[in-house]
Amino acid sequence: MRVGFAGLGRMGALMAENVTRAGFKTVVWNRNREKAERLAERTGAGIAASPRELCERTEIVLTMLADDGASETVHCARDGLFSAATGARHFLEMGTMSPDHIAALRERSDGRRIIDAPVSGATDAAREAKLMIMVGADAETIAPFRGVLDAMSRKVVCLDRPGAGAVMKLAINALIHGLNQTLAEALNVAVAAGISAERAFDAIDASAAAAPVLSYRRPLFLDDEAHPVSFTIALAHKDLDLFAELAAEHGVSVPQAELNRDCLEDAAADGFAEADLAAMVRYMRGRQ
Ligand code: NAP
Repeated sequence: MRVGFAGLGRMGALMAENVTRAGFKTVVWNRNREKAERLAERTGAGIAASPRELCERTEIVLTMLADDGASETVHCARDGLFSAATGARHFLEMGTMSPDHIAALRERSDGRRIIDAPVSGATDAAREAKLMIMVGADAETIAPFRGVLDAMSRKVVCLDRPGAGAVMKLAINALIHGLNQTLAEALNVAVAAGISAERAFDAIDASAAAAPVLSYRRPLFLDDEAHPVSFTIALAHKDLDLFAELAAEHGVSVPQAELNRDCLEDAAADGFAEADLAAMVRYMRGRQ
Protein backbone atom coordinates (compact mmCIF):
# COMPACT_ATOMS: atom_id res chain seq x y z
CA MET A 1 0.00 0.00 0.00
CA ARG A 2 1.35 3.46 -0.92
CA VAL A 3 0.98 5.78 2.06
CA GLY A 4 1.09 9.59 2.04
CA PHE A 5 1.98 11.50 5.19
CA ALA A 6 1.48 15.25 5.59
CA GLY A 7 2.68 17.12 8.69
CA LEU A 8 6.15 16.21 9.85
CA GLY A 9 6.26 18.11 13.14
CA ARG A 10 7.44 16.66 16.46
CA MET A 11 4.93 13.80 16.27
CA GLY A 12 4.38 13.39 12.53
CA ALA A 13 8.05 12.90 11.63
CA LEU A 14 8.37 10.02 14.10
CA MET A 15 5.08 8.43 13.00
CA ALA A 16 5.94 8.70 9.30
CA GLU A 17 9.33 7.15 10.02
CA ASN A 18 7.68 4.12 11.63
CA VAL A 19 5.27 3.71 8.72
CA THR A 20 8.20 3.77 6.29
CA ARG A 21 10.30 1.37 8.36
CA ALA A 22 7.36 -1.05 8.53
CA GLY A 23 7.78 -1.49 4.76
CA PHE A 24 5.03 0.74 3.37
CA LYS A 25 6.03 2.73 0.31
CA THR A 26 5.73 6.22 1.79
CA VAL A 27 5.60 9.70 0.27
CA VAL A 28 5.72 12.72 2.58
CA TRP A 29 4.87 16.41 2.41
CA ASN A 30 5.50 19.19 4.91
CA ARG A 31 4.95 22.94 4.66
CA ASN A 32 8.56 23.50 5.67
CA ARG A 33 10.24 21.29 3.08
CA GLU A 34 13.48 20.84 5.04
CA LYS A 35 11.71 18.52 7.47
CA ALA A 36 10.55 16.36 4.57
CA GLU A 37 14.09 16.26 3.18
CA ARG A 38 15.53 15.22 6.54
CA LEU A 39 12.99 12.40 6.82
CA ALA A 40 13.58 11.28 3.24
CA GLU A 41 17.34 11.13 3.87
CA ARG A 42 16.83 8.96 6.97
CA THR A 43 14.22 6.59 5.56
CA GLY A 44 14.16 6.71 1.76
CA ALA A 45 10.59 8.08 1.71
CA GLY A 46 9.59 10.05 -1.40
CA ILE A 47 8.80 13.77 -1.21
CA ALA A 48 5.73 15.36 -2.80
CA ALA A 49 5.84 18.98 -3.96
CA SER A 50 2.29 19.72 -2.74
CA PRO A 51 -0.56 18.04 -0.87
CA ARG A 52 -2.23 17.51 -4.25
CA GLU A 53 0.78 15.56 -5.54
CA LEU A 54 0.91 13.63 -2.25
CA CYS A 55 -2.66 12.50 -2.86
CA GLU A 56 -2.03 11.64 -6.51
CA ARG A 57 0.94 9.39 -5.66
CA THR A 58 -0.67 7.40 -2.84
CA GLU A 59 -3.65 5.24 -1.85
CA ILE A 60 -4.18 6.58 1.66
CA VAL A 61 -3.12 9.88 3.23
CA LEU A 62 -2.40 10.39 6.93
CA THR A 63 -2.22 13.94 8.26
CA MET A 64 -0.66 14.99 11.57
CA LEU A 65 -1.23 18.73 11.59
CA ALA A 66 -1.28 21.35 14.33
CA ASP A 67 -4.93 22.38 14.42
CA ASP A 68 -8.20 22.80 12.52
CA GLY A 69 -6.83 25.71 10.47
CA ALA A 70 -3.74 23.82 9.32
CA SER A 71 -5.83 20.77 8.46
CA GLU A 72 -8.34 22.89 6.54
CA THR A 73 -5.52 24.44 4.50
CA VAL A 74 -3.82 21.14 3.69
CA HIS A 75 -7.07 19.46 2.65
CA CYS A 76 -8.97 22.30 0.98
CA ALA A 77 -6.48 24.85 -0.44
CA ARG A 78 -6.06 25.24 -4.20
CA ASP A 79 -3.25 22.65 -4.29
CA GLY A 80 -4.65 20.79 -1.31
CA LEU A 81 -5.33 17.06 -0.93
CA PHE A 82 -8.93 17.40 -2.15
CA SER A 83 -7.82 19.14 -5.35
CA ALA A 84 -6.37 15.86 -6.68
CA ALA A 85 -8.52 14.12 -9.29
CA THR A 86 -6.74 10.78 -8.82
CA GLY A 87 -5.01 8.84 -6.06
CA ALA A 88 -5.92 8.36 -2.41
CA ARG A 89 -9.57 8.04 -1.40
CA HIS A 90 -8.91 7.45 2.32
CA PHE A 91 -7.82 10.33 4.57
CA LEU A 92 -6.96 9.90 8.24
CA GLU A 93 -6.62 13.10 10.32
CA MET A 94 -4.43 12.10 13.27
CA GLY A 95 -3.88 15.52 14.88
CA THR A 96 -6.07 16.75 17.74
CA MET A 97 -8.96 18.51 15.97
CA SER A 98 -12.50 19.56 16.76
CA PRO A 99 -15.28 17.12 15.83
CA ASP A 100 -16.85 20.05 13.93
CA HIS A 101 -13.78 20.29 11.73
CA ILE A 102 -13.95 16.56 10.98
CA ALA A 103 -17.63 17.00 10.05
CA ALA A 104 -16.74 19.97 7.80
CA LEU A 105 -14.05 17.95 6.01
CA ARG A 106 -16.54 15.13 5.47
CA GLU A 107 -19.00 17.59 3.95
CA ARG A 108 -16.38 18.77 1.48
CA SER A 109 -14.96 15.32 0.79
CA ASP A 110 -16.94 14.54 -2.38
CA GLY A 111 -17.14 10.80 -1.72
CA ARG A 112 -13.68 10.40 -0.19
CA ARG A 113 -13.53 8.66 3.18
CA ILE A 114 -12.45 11.00 5.99
CA ILE A 115 -11.64 9.40 9.34
CA ASP A 116 -10.58 11.06 12.57
CA ALA A 117 -7.79 9.02 14.17
CA PRO A 118 -6.07 11.15 16.84
CA VAL A 119 -3.42 9.68 19.09
CA SER A 120 -2.64 9.49 22.79
CA GLY A 121 1.03 9.36 23.80
CA ALA A 122 3.82 11.86 23.37
CA THR A 123 7.00 11.91 21.29
CA ASP A 124 8.59 8.91 23.07
CA ALA A 125 5.50 6.80 22.35
CA ALA A 126 5.51 8.04 18.75
CA ARG A 127 9.20 7.11 18.39
CA GLU A 128 8.64 3.64 19.85
CA ALA A 129 5.43 3.01 17.87
CA LYS A 130 3.48 2.77 21.13
CA LEU A 131 0.74 5.31 20.50
CA MET A 132 -2.91 4.66 21.31
CA ILE A 133 -5.08 5.59 18.31
CA MET A 134 -8.75 6.55 18.70
CA VAL A 135 -10.59 5.97 15.45
CA GLY A 136 -13.91 7.50 14.45
CA ALA A 137 -14.88 4.39 12.46
CA ASP A 138 -15.54 0.69 13.03
CA ALA A 139 -13.05 -2.18 12.74
CA GLU A 140 -14.41 -3.32 9.38
CA THR A 141 -13.91 0.13 7.84
CA ILE A 142 -10.29 0.36 8.87
CA ALA A 143 -9.42 -3.30 8.11
CA PRO A 144 -7.84 -2.52 4.69
CA PHE A 145 -5.26 -0.20 6.28
CA ARG A 146 -5.09 -1.57 9.81
CA GLY A 147 -1.42 -2.50 9.19
CA VAL A 148 -0.54 1.17 8.69
CA LEU A 149 -2.07 2.05 12.07
CA ASP A 150 -0.36 -0.91 13.74
CA ALA A 151 3.00 0.38 12.45
CA MET A 152 2.60 3.42 14.76
CA SER A 153 0.72 2.08 17.74
CA ARG A 154 0.33 -0.39 20.59
CA LYS A 155 -3.46 -0.13 20.60
CA VAL A 156 -6.19 0.97 18.20
CA VAL A 157 -9.58 1.80 19.73
CA CYS A 158 -12.50 1.87 17.28
CA LEU A 159 -15.22 4.28 18.39
CA ASP A 160 -17.45 3.41 15.43
CA ARG A 161 -18.84 6.77 14.33
CA PRO A 162 -17.25 9.78 12.59
CA GLY A 163 -15.99 12.42 15.03
CA ALA A 164 -16.00 10.09 18.06
CA GLY A 165 -12.20 9.76 17.91
CA ALA A 166 -11.86 13.55 18.02
CA VAL A 167 -14.29 13.79 20.96
CA MET A 168 -12.49 11.08 22.95
CA LYS A 169 -9.09 12.65 22.36
CA LEU A 170 -10.29 16.05 23.65
CA ALA A 171 -11.84 14.38 26.72
CA ILE A 172 -8.58 12.56 27.51
CA ASN A 173 -6.54 15.72 27.05
CA ALA A 174 -8.83 17.63 29.42
CA LEU A 175 -7.76 15.09 32.04
CA ILE A 176 -4.08 15.25 31.09
CA HIS A 177 -3.93 19.04 31.10
CA GLY A 178 -5.79 19.07 34.43
CA LEU A 179 -3.18 16.71 35.88
CA ASN A 180 -0.42 18.88 34.47
CA GLN A 181 -1.78 22.05 36.11
CA THR A 182 -2.41 20.34 39.43
CA LEU A 183 1.04 18.79 39.42
CA ALA A 184 2.58 22.23 38.84
CA GLU A 185 0.67 23.59 41.84
CA ALA A 186 1.35 20.57 44.10
CA LEU A 187 5.05 20.56 43.29
CA ASN A 188 5.42 24.30 43.83
CA VAL A 189 3.71 24.15 47.22
CA ALA A 190 5.89 21.22 48.35
CA VAL A 191 9.05 23.05 47.23
CA ALA A 192 7.96 26.33 48.87
CA ALA A 193 7.48 24.36 52.10
CA GLY A 194 11.06 23.04 51.96
CA ILE A 195 10.86 19.66 50.16
CA SER A 196 13.13 19.24 47.12
CA ALA A 197 11.35 19.00 43.77
CA GLU A 198 12.89 15.56 43.15
CA ARG A 199 11.71 14.12 46.47
CA ALA A 200 8.28 15.66 46.08
CA PHE A 201 7.95 14.31 42.55
CA ASP A 202 9.04 10.81 43.61
CA ALA A 203 6.51 10.80 46.46
CA ILE A 204 3.74 11.83 44.05
CA ASP A 205 4.90 9.19 41.58
CA ALA A 206 4.67 6.48 44.26
CA SER A 207 1.28 7.68 45.50
CA ALA A 208 -2.34 7.04 44.56
CA ALA A 209 -2.08 10.14 42.34
CA ALA A 210 0.57 8.55 40.10
CA ALA A 211 -0.19 8.46 36.38
CA PRO A 212 1.85 7.36 33.36
CA VAL A 213 1.84 10.87 31.89
CA LEU A 214 3.45 12.19 35.07
CA SER A 215 6.05 9.40 35.28
CA TYR A 216 7.35 9.58 31.74
CA ARG A 217 7.52 13.36 31.84
CA ARG A 218 9.54 13.43 35.09
CA PRO A 219 12.69 14.98 33.52
CA LEU A 220 10.61 17.73 31.91
CA PHE A 221 8.70 18.52 35.11
CA LEU A 222 11.94 18.81 37.08
CA ASP A 223 13.73 20.97 34.50
CA ASP A 224 11.84 21.58 31.26
CA GLU A 225 14.56 23.84 29.85
CA ALA A 226 17.16 21.04 29.95
CA HIS A 227 15.15 18.81 27.57
CA PRO A 228 13.68 19.06 24.06
CA VAL A 229 10.10 20.32 23.89
CA SER A 230 7.69 17.40 23.54
CA PHE A 231 4.28 19.13 23.52
CA THR A 232 3.83 22.89 23.47
CA ILE A 233 1.72 25.06 25.76
CA ALA A 234 0.20 26.58 22.59
CA LEU A 235 -1.16 23.18 21.49
CA ALA A 236 -2.43 22.37 25.01
CA HIS A 237 -4.25 25.71 25.03
CA LYS A 238 -5.81 24.80 21.67
CA ASP A 239 -6.96 21.45 23.12
CA LEU A 240 -8.75 23.03 26.08
CA ASP A 241 -10.32 25.70 23.89
CA LEU A 242 -11.78 22.94 21.72
CA PHE A 243 -12.83 20.93 24.78
CA ALA A 244 -14.64 23.94 26.30
CA GLU A 245 -16.40 24.60 22.97
CA LEU A 246 -17.43 20.97 22.72
CA ALA A 247 -18.73 20.98 26.29
CA ALA A 248 -20.71 24.17 25.61
CA GLU A 249 -22.23 22.65 22.45
CA HIS A 250 -23.51 19.78 24.59
CA GLY A 251 -24.56 21.95 27.52
CA VAL A 252 -22.01 20.39 29.88
CA SER A 253 -20.38 22.49 32.60
CA VAL A 254 -16.54 22.22 32.73
CA PRO A 255 -15.30 24.96 35.10
CA GLN A 256 -12.04 23.20 35.93
CA ALA A 257 -11.08 22.76 32.28
CA GLU A 258 -11.88 26.45 31.67
CA LEU A 259 -9.64 27.49 34.54
CA ASN A 260 -6.83 25.27 33.26
CA ARG A 261 -7.32 26.76 29.81
CA ASP A 262 -7.06 30.28 31.22
CA CYS A 263 -3.79 29.41 33.00
CA LEU A 264 -2.37 28.09 29.70
CA GLU A 265 -3.59 31.21 27.90
CA ASP A 266 -1.86 33.46 30.45
CA ALA A 267 1.36 31.45 30.16
CA ALA A 268 1.26 31.63 26.36
CA ALA A 269 0.71 35.40 26.51
CA ASP A 270 3.71 35.68 28.87
CA GLY A 271 6.06 34.11 26.31
CA PHE A 272 5.64 30.41 27.16
CA ALA A 273 3.63 29.40 24.05
CA GLU A 274 6.42 27.36 22.49
CA ALA A 275 7.72 25.94 25.79
CA ASP A 276 6.85 22.42 26.81
CA LEU A 277 3.63 21.90 28.77
CA ALA A 278 5.77 20.99 31.79
CA ALA A 279 6.99 24.60 31.84
CA MET A 280 3.71 25.35 33.64
CA VAL A 281 5.66 24.41 36.80
CA ARG A 282 8.16 27.20 36.07
CA TYR A 283 5.49 29.63 34.93
CA MET A 284 3.32 29.11 38.03
CA ARG A 285 6.42 29.41 40.27
CA GLY A 286 7.10 32.79 38.68
CA ARG A 287 3.60 33.94 39.67
CA GLN A 288 4.21 33.26 43.38
P1 NAP B 1 4.19 20.49 15.75
O1 NAP B 1 5.52 19.92 16.06
O2 NAP B 1 3.92 21.92 16.03
O3 NAP B 1 3.86 20.17 14.21
C1 NAP B 1 2.76 20.77 13.58
C2 NAP B 1 2.70 20.37 12.12
O4 NAP B 1 1.62 21.09 11.49
C3 NAP B 1 3.98 20.73 11.34
O5 NAP B 1 4.20 19.77 10.33
C4 NAP B 1 3.59 22.08 10.71
O6 NAP B 1 4.31 22.40 9.54
C5 NAP B 1 2.14 21.80 10.36
N1 NAP B 1 1.39 23.04 10.13
C6 NAP B 1 1.06 23.99 11.05
N2 NAP B 1 0.35 24.98 10.47
C7 NAP B 1 0.24 24.65 9.14
C8 NAP B 1 -0.39 25.25 8.02
N3 NAP B 1 -1.06 26.41 8.13
N4 NAP B 1 -0.29 24.63 6.83
C9 NAP B 1 0.37 23.47 6.71
N5 NAP B 1 0.98 22.83 7.73
C10 NAP B 1 0.91 23.41 8.94
O7 NAP B 1 3.02 19.69 16.52
P2 NAP B 1 3.02 18.19 17.10
O8 NAP B 1 3.47 18.25 18.52
O9 NAP B 1 3.67 17.27 16.14
O10 NAP B 1 1.44 17.94 17.16
C11 NAP B 1 0.69 17.68 15.96
C12 NAP B 1 -0.76 17.40 16.37
O11 NAP B 1 -0.81 16.25 17.23
C13 NAP B 1 -1.43 18.53 17.17
O12 NAP B 1 -2.81 18.57 16.86
C14 NAP B 1 -1.23 18.10 18.62
O13 NAP B 1 -2.21 18.67 19.48
C15 NAP B 1 -1.36 16.59 18.50
N6 NAP B 1 -0.62 15.79 19.50
C16 NAP B 1 0.63 16.15 19.93
C17 NAP B 1 1.30 15.34 20.87
C18 NAP B 1 2.68 15.70 21.38
O14 NAP B 1 3.09 15.11 22.40
N7 NAP B 1 3.43 16.59 20.76
C19 NAP B 1 0.69 14.16 21.33
C20 NAP B 1 -0.56 13.80 20.85
C21 NAP B 1 -1.22 14.62 19.91
P3 NAP B 1 5.74 23.19 9.63
O15 NAP B 1 6.75 22.14 9.99
O16 NAP B 1 5.91 23.74 8.28
O17 NAP B 1 5.58 24.25 10.71
